Amino acid sequence: MSLITHLFNLLYPPHCPSCGAMVPREGDWCPACLAAIWHPRRIDKPASVTHLCACYCLADYRGAMRRILHDIKYNGREGKCRACRTLLERFPWPERFAQVSLAVPVPLAPEKLQRRGFNQAESLFRDWAESRWTWCDALQRLRPTKVQWQLRRQQRADNVRHAFAVKETVDVRGKHILLVDDIFTTGATLEACASALTQKGAASVTGLVIASGAR
Ligand SMILES: [Zn+2]
Repeated sequence: MSLITHLFNLLYPPHCPSCGAMVPREGDWCPACLAAIWHPRRIDKPASVTHLCACYCLADYRGAMRRILHDIKYNGREGKCRACRTLLERFPWPERFAQVSLAVPVPLAPEKLQRRGFNQAESLFRDWAESRWTWCDALQRLRPTKVQWQLRRQQRADNVRHAFAVKETVDVRGKHILLVDDIFTTGATLEACASALTQKGAASVTGLVIASGAR
């Protein structure tokens, strides 16, 4: 730890993002709160998800995890991404991404990006991913979609089908891609993105999200 970080920590002691207890480093969780949400796993994909090879998540989408992701997305609290980056650093199976060469975020609709000021997938993953692979904002939204959480499973898939395309300037042929987003619910959004990427020749698309309510 640098002297400046040390002094900063003395003045503003870092707190657990869930319960507020003092922790050694900014972004750290206290052991009890971490245990309550930490659940790294390969998500059981629904049958409708075929282009996404696999999807991994780090935590359960509940309690503090749900509050933090909600605060990032809907209350503009981008600083809370730090609590998620410490989870990323603990990802237990980095060897499963050995073939990956590109990390691609799920894109936001332009009007939403303007309103929020940042894409949470980028804020959550970019620093971590860029130290391993090339970060590539390869996808764009072709049309506005409805808010997914208001829709049922089939409606979600219909809502996002053909909603994404690979940007003209990007070449994904033969690339093994890690597709990143904040949450996995039914997988419809990640699947639509994976479909667009494989149509343009990507060799494989694997997902990684911070949290999921799926098993
Ligand atoms: Zn805590």
